[in-house]
Amino acid sequence: MSDRFVIWAPMVHSESASKCGYCHGDKGENRDQLFALDSWAQRYVDKLDTIDIENCTIGSFVERMDVITYDRLCNMGFRRSGKFLYKVDPLRNCCRLFTIRTTPQELDMTKELKKCVNRFAKRIIDDDSCISTVASCDFVGKIVNAELNSKTFHTRFEPALYSDEKYQLFVKYQENVHQDFKNSPKSFKRFLCDTPFGSESVLGTQESWDQLNNWQRMKPGEKLKHVGPVHECYYYDDKLIAITVSDILPSGISSVYFIWDPDYSKWALGKLSALRDLAIIKKANLQYYYLGYYIQDCPKMNYKAGYGAEVLDVCHGKYIPLKTIENMISRGRLFILGDEETKPSKELKIIDCNIGKGSSFSTESGTKYTNIAEEIYGVEGCAFESANQSSLELKELYGIPFGEEDSDTIYHLKEQRDHAPSGIPNVVPGLLPLWELLDIIETGKITDLEGRLFLFEIETGEIRPLTNFYCETPQVKKRICDTIRLFGFETCMKVVILYNESM
Ligand SMILES: [Zn+2]
Repeated sequence: MSDRFVIWAPMVHSESASKCGYCHGDKGENRDQLFALDSWAQRYVDKLDTIDIENCTIGSFVERMDVITYDRLCNMGFRRSGKFLYKVDPLRNCCRLFTIRTTPQELDMTKELKKCVNRFAKRIIDDDSCISTVASCDFVGKIVNAELNSKTFHTRFEPALYSDEKYQLFVKYQENVHQDFKNSPKSFKRFLCDTPFGSESVLGTQESWDQLNNWQRMKPGEKLKHVGPVHECYYYDDKLIAITVSDILPSGISSVYFIWDPDYSKWALGKLSALRDLAIIKKANLQYYYLGYYIQDCPKMNYKAGYGAEVLDVCHGKYIPLKTIENMISRGRLFILGDEETKPSKELKIIDCNIGKGSSFSTESGTKYTNIAEEIYGVEGCAFESANQSSLELKELYGIPFGEEDSDTIYHLKEQRDHAPSGIPNVVPGLLPLWELLDIIETGKITDLEGRLFLFEIETGEIRPLTNFYCETPQVKKRICDTIRLFGFETCMKVVILYNESM
C-alpha cells in the first residue's frame, strides 16, 4: 500500500475574493481583470454588485501520497499547502494563477541577478580571488566557490520538522513582512511541516542528507538520493537568517515557501534563494525549478517572469514559454492554446501529463498558436451546453447526482445566494470534461478501476476495493466521478477515497 494515494473526497473551497492573498478582491481601476475572459468581463464589469467574485480552489486533504505522484500532479497544476492539495478554478477565480517552472539553462542572467550573486559572494568570503576568475554569467560557479570558501555562511538541509528556532524566525518574518500577527506553533506546523509523504521521504537516510548537504561537490551524472520535503536553513555567523521550504521531486525542486530575517533585507534573500535553488538543481543533476504560481497582474508574483520561465496550459498538460503567450494573458486573462484552423466544438480532452521530454509545446519558428479559451469557456463558449447535456445523461442513465447549471452565468448571483449550488461546477478548465467522464462510464473503461480504486468509509471503518461501479450508491459514484475529474483517470488507479457516508 506504500504507493497508494490516500485522499478525502474532493471539495470546493470558495470564499469572498476579499480573502484573496494576491488581489484582496480589489483591482482598483482594472476591475475587468477580475474576469478570466473578455466576454465575461463585458457582461459583468458594470454589474459587479450583482455577482459574487470568489477566490475558489478545488482540492482534497491528502493522508498519503508518494513523491512520484506529487511530481505528476504538480505538472497538472496542483500545489500543496501542508496536507491540502489543490488547484484554482481559473475561470471563476478573481486571479489567474499559472503553474510556472524554469531551468538553470533558461535563466535570464540579468544585471540585477548578477549583482545579487556578487554581493552575496563578497559578504561571505574575505578574499574574492576564488570568484573573480569565474565568468560573470556562471552564477552556479560563483555560488559554489563562494560557499565552499566561506567561514561565515553555511546552510543545512534537514527534515521538514518543527523547532523553536525556526518558529521564531517565521513569526518575525510574518509580522514584519506580511503584517500577519496570528501565528502559533500549530499554524507553523500545519503550513510548513505537515506533509502527506511517508516517513521514509520525510526522514530520509543519513547518507541522503550527507549528499544533499554537500551538493556543491556532486559530480555530473551523480544521482541525488533524497526525494521529499526539506527545510534548508541558512546560517550567517551561526545565526539562522532564512529557511527555504521545498519539495525535492524526481524532476526538480518545487519551492513551497521562503522565510527570511527582515534585518537582512539588504541581502535580497528572496532572489538569492531562487538562484541558489537553481544552482542546486544544476549541480544535483535535476531538471526543473517549480516556482509555484505566476500571476501576471500581481506585483508580488510577477517577478517570476524574470527567471526565463514557461507556464502550464492546464488543458494540454504542456508548458509554453511565458514570452510566447504574454499578450494572451495580460489583463488577468486565461489562455488555452489552439491552432488557427480547428475550432473547438467541445471542451478539450484532458491529456495526462508527461514530465520531461515532450512536456513543452514546440516553439519552432512557424508554429502559430492562438488562444481558444474564449471559444470554449466564454459567454458563447461551447463548453456549457454540452456539459449540461452530459450531466443530464449521467443522472438519468447512471443515477449519478449531477445537476443542470444555469448556462447564462458561471457566477453565483447575489440574489440567489442562498440557493447557490455547491460541489464542483460542471465546467472547470483543466478538469476532465463531463463528456469525457460520460464516455469513460459508457464504454466500460471505468471497469479498469475495479480492484484498483479503494473506498474507505470512516464511520464503519470498512475499506474495500471497487468491484462494480454501476452498483454503487449515487453518492459513492459521485465521489468517484469527482476524483476522476480532478486528478485524472490514471491517478485513480491507485487512489483510496476516504469518506463519511453521512456527509
Ligand atoms: Zn485575487
